[in-house]
Amino acid sequence: DETRQREALLEAIENIADRIDEEREYLTELDSAIGDADHGANLNRGFKAVMEKLEAMDDDADVQEIAKTVGMTLVSEVGGAAGPLYGGSAMTASTELEDGITTESSVAFAEAFLEKLQDRGDARVGDKTMVDAITPAVHTYKKSIEQDDLPPLEALAKAVDAAERGVEFTVPIRASKGRASFLGWRSTGHQDPGATSTLFMLEEILAVAEQ
Ligand code: ADP
Ligand code: MG
Ligand code: MG
Repeated sequence: DETRQREALLEAIENIADRIDEEREYLTELDSAIGDADHGANLNRGFKAVMEKLEAMDDDADVQEIAKTVGMTLVSEVGGAAGPLYGGSAMTASTELEDGITTESSVAFAEAFLEKLQDRGDARVGDKTMVDAITPAVHTYKKSIEQDDLPPLEALAKAVDAAERGVEFTVPIRASKGRASFLGWRSTGHQDPGATSTLFMLEEILAVAEQ
């Protein structure tokens, strides 16, 4: 029901905020190799602000409003590429949750998130960005539900596996978008920070869904 959905969503967001805090140094280390060493700090600042906003929010806010607030906060609080990309996508995709979280609306959310991300960032698979993790995750989730008839939890587990392979795929390739692209071929051999933070977030969503 509605209250349970709200609580699960809030728990997932809180777990993401905690995970980003734990992984802050690791994400920054990845970004120091091919960027400007701020990805962990950027996202951590963003999710701290998100937690403050959510704590101050009305108890009767629905899941759409919650997702929209997360997105707006990330857009306004995070300097750098990743915050506005994650946040803008969450804002746009939140409209798919108008009637709550169902299997169908979760697929619609995932697709809208990816579409907005590609619109805004203009990156495609192989450019060595978060898109390399999000794209296979979204496609796997949709296919698992719509074609393979898997329950949403199994579909989500497969999506997380796909994101993990996407993160590994970023290591050998050359960056064509974002700061890492300034390095040209010297960006090869390093894991993309944004793809990595995407994987951490998906893992936390799966952990809450599994409860
Ligand atoms: P900045 O590069 O501005 O310092 P962050 O360090 O927070 O921002 O985020 C860097 C991450 O953002 C990269 O690892 C990459 O995954 C992602 N990114 C950068 N540019 C794009 C883009 N155009 N499309 C999608 N993702 C991008
Ligand atoms: Mg950076
Ligand atoms: Mg920066």
